[in-house]
Amino acid sequence: MKNKFLKFFNTLSIGIILVIVLTNCSKEVNHADLVLYNGTIITVDSNNTMAEAIAVSGDTIMFIGSNNSVKKFIDDSTKVIDLKGQTALPGFIDSHAHLTGTGKAQIILNLQEAKNWDEVVYLVAQAVSKAKFGEWIIGRGWHQEKWNPKPSKNVRGFPYHYKLSQASPNNPVMLSHASGHAVFANEKAMKMANITSDTPNPRGGEIIKDSSGIPIGVFMEEAETLISKKYREYQLKKSAEDLLKEKKKYITMAINECLSKGITTLHDAGATFNDLKVIKEMADSNQLKIRLYEMILEDYNSLKDSIRAYQTVGYKNNHLTVRAVKLYIDGALGSRGAWLLSPYKDAPDQSGLNVTPLSEIKNVAKLALENDFQICTHAIGDKGNRVILNIYEDIFNKNPDKKDLRWRVEHAQHLSKKDIPRFNKLGVIAAMQGIHCTSDAPFVEKRLGKGRAKIGAYAWRSLIENRTTICNGTDSPVEDIDPLQNIYATVTRKTKDGSQFYPEQKMTRLEAIKSYTINGAYAAFEEQLKGTLEIGKLADITVLSKNILDIPDKEILNTKVIYTIVGGKILFIK
Ligand SMILES: [Zn+2]
Repeated sequence: MKNKFLKFFNTLSIGIILVIVLTNCSKEVNHADLVLYNGTIITVDSNNTMAEAIAVSGDTIMFIGSNNSVKKFIDDSTKVIDLKGQTALPGFIDSHAHLTGTGKAQIILNLQEAKNWDEVVYLVAQAVSKAKFGEWIIGRGWHQEKWNPKPSKNVRGFPYHYKLSQASPNNPVMLSHASGHAVFANEKAMKMANITSDTPNPRGGEIIKDSSGIPIGVFMEEAETLISKKYREYQLKKSAEDLLKEKKKYITMAINECLSKGITTLHDAGATFNDLKVIKEMADSNQLKIRLYEMILEDYNSLKDSIRAYQTVGYKNNHLTVRAVKLYIDGALGSRGAWLLSPYKDAPDQSGLNVTPLSEIKNVAKLALENDFQICTHAIGDKGNRVILNIYEDIFNKNPDKKDLRWRVEHAQHLSKKDIPRFNKLGVIAAMQGIHCTSDAPFVEKRLGKGRAKIGAYAWRSLIENRTTICNGTDSPVEDIDPLQNIYATVTRKTKDGSQFYPEQKMTRLEAIKSYTINGAYAAFEEQLKGTLEIGKLADITVLSKNILDIPDKEILNTKVIYTIVGGKILFIK
């Protein structure tokens, strides 16, 4: 009884305070710069409130509520948009993509749709016919597991370079695997890099050779650098000015791509100091139209003197934050670089690779801890995940005074059952990619076998049941940066051929939306700023043609981005 009375009294007093605050507010601020009304507004707040209208002042949300109540904020200078029933939600956050790579991917040869090796060779031949003598031909996106027919002469499914070398005798060719964890080179490129059957595998990498020791053209993981080093030397012959222009062009293209797909924040999964200088320059000249959360990709030796100098939080009205470091513990599953606890089902002599010495990872992690940086480690295989969780755990245990670190595992793709609860226990975020599941599905069981795939492959549901925060992303340019395709994959786990990959692990619609909004904000310590549509938060808003909370699955793929709004500014209109 007493409690009830107290409750009533509390509600009453909160009510009175609210009335006072609201009257005061309406006296002070009654003008909105932008009003969206007549919409279905998914706020993603803690009560999952739905609303009809939203008012924005400057770059901040000042009101969320009904069509009627929003009217008082409209005057002659307010930009008013009738949403006509369309859906607004917090701007999408892609929590793992590669900014420069996303822009560059639009220029270089895209081999993602090539149906087989002959088509890859054909596309290269076309590029050669337009290229200057000796110019490098760069491509990306091929995947031997997705080809039909498979190359007749092959080593572990990879073709020999001969056809490619014939198609491009004078131009070095370097084609990145869809996973980004292997390259294919032609004879010209291999000659430039002095690759012979005697060339040893570098640490953390493999030059694929046939049974007689002939390199077939594929360079996995760290072996890539044997070829890419030659390409970089060629690039360095370009003037610094040209290189800078090129990089800015890629970044601008990536930003425009993001805006057209409703993305307002991108977590850039690996930027060098050089990249960061360019990005900061672009922030200073207001060229960053979306917000960037940067993970530094440098080794310990470079980091130890400079990490502090690069730290920046909320720079240029929350457009640039640098407070994370990217690490790699292993490779990718497609190229059998993912580090596994027991061997690959389809290659019993292999268990993947540890690509960065653990001592280096520990040194970088310690440095990050001392300098208030977050660690984001790429880990795909179950062993890669276990070892990185062990390293995190050890550091956390030794530093109990450091709280709320939110260190991340990027991909967290294949987990041993035992490690699933450890994410929540350690406060580690799983930065996953819904669409990797459906695009990798054709080869996951081959690599892992059914048992391991069922329990631990893209185990979102199991992680959520263990109260893990999952943020979602695309790893673009590995996948298209489109959040809607990704959300479709996340809520259906349906592959291109319509089959479902362990659907019991799929997310609900709301979970998927959260993984793309508030969880992404949390994964960057920005949940007070963005990730939901609430008063006082940044007005980063994406408007969609349909309500992705309750349309049939397949309509998610036909849903269009109508507006992308960043900080109250409409930066994309369909
Ligand atoms: Zn990545």
